[in-house]
Amino acid sequence: MKFVEPQVFLIGETRIDAAQVKEMLGAIGGSIATEWFSKTQKASRSEGELLTEVAGRLCYKSFGVGLNPNVTKIRQSSEEYIQNTLSKGDGSIFEHATCTFAFINVSRVFTHELVRHRVGVAISQESLRYVRPSELSFWLPPELAGKKAKVKTIVENIEGSYKDLEGEFDWESMNFDVKKRITSALRRIAPDGMATSIIWTANHRTIRHVIAMRTAEAAEVEIRYVFDKVARTMKEKFPLIYADFEHTELPDKTRSWRPKYVKA
Ligand SMILES: Cc1cc2nc3c(=O)[nH]c(=O)nc-3n(C[C@H](O)[C@H](O)[C@H](O)COP(=O)(O)OP(=O)(O)OC[C@H]3O[C@@H](n4cnc5c(N)ncnc54)[C@H](O)[C@@H]3O)c2cc1C
Repeated sequence: MKFVEPQVFLIGETRIDAAQVKEMLGAIGGSIATEWFSKTQKASRSEGELLTEVAGRLCYKSFGVGLNPNVTKIRQSSEEYIQNTLSKGDGSIFEHATCTFAFINVSRVFTHELVRHRVGVAISQESLRYVRPSELSFWLPPELAGKKAKVKTIVENIEGSYKDLEGEFDWESMNFDVKKRITSALRRIAPDGMATSIIWTANHRTIRHVIAMRTAEAAEVEIRYVFDKVARTMKEKFPLIYADFEHTELPDKTRSWRPKYVKA
């Protein structure tokens, strides 16, 4: 067995096609809209935020005064615009842009909790029906830090029992379908804490919600640990969409993140 640490990789995110956006804005709002876009794009730090703002402003044609006779002034900066939509609870515009994360060396405890979040997500999880482990990897929760040697022995014993049972089968003679069925049966022996991996895509509305729920002090330690990393990445890469998130330090060195605007 080996001890591992959960790892978080942001492996994908929504990009825009700036030429197409500009052409579209020209079609609906002429030079007022295209000039707004050029100015906003130059100041923008993230394409996901830019897309969110384009989508939001399209609703009222608020790219500039003169496009919608009902609009006599507009919010000039992206900071002001995004902050206002968050404060009003206009959460749906935050569904346009997504991020894709790879969570590696996470346990089945973690993945089971993660997949409870149903809305606005796509999931691909390592199949332990297909993938037969050659070694058990395990993350040691801080609560067991003082018992590392004992945990190691326990996991090694399980690993040994797994190998024993695995050795009862003639793998060479099996076709892939039979291997899959035996592998799936054998995984029942493995512990919940066994490390695995999962790819998780979610839109920003969902990421905001899951960060708030899963970094709460009452949340389970591993998902809190992982979503603390997610929150830090989101704050850095999407400073406007996550501007209202503030954190408190928890005794186990993770952070609990709370948004000012919960409904969004
Ligand atoms: C600290 C903590 C302890 C927990 N303990 C337990 C436990 O003991 N047992 C247990 O089973 N679960 C437990 N959970 C899981 C929890 O009950 C939720 O299933 C999980 O957090 C998913 O959140 P969500 O319901 O907001 O779903 P999401 O899929 O993230 O949905 C986002 C939002 O969309 C809306 N929504 C989603 N689906 C529907 C729907 N079908 N109808 C109407 N509105 C919808 C809701 O407003 C929801 O908040 C716990 C979670 C936490 C954070």
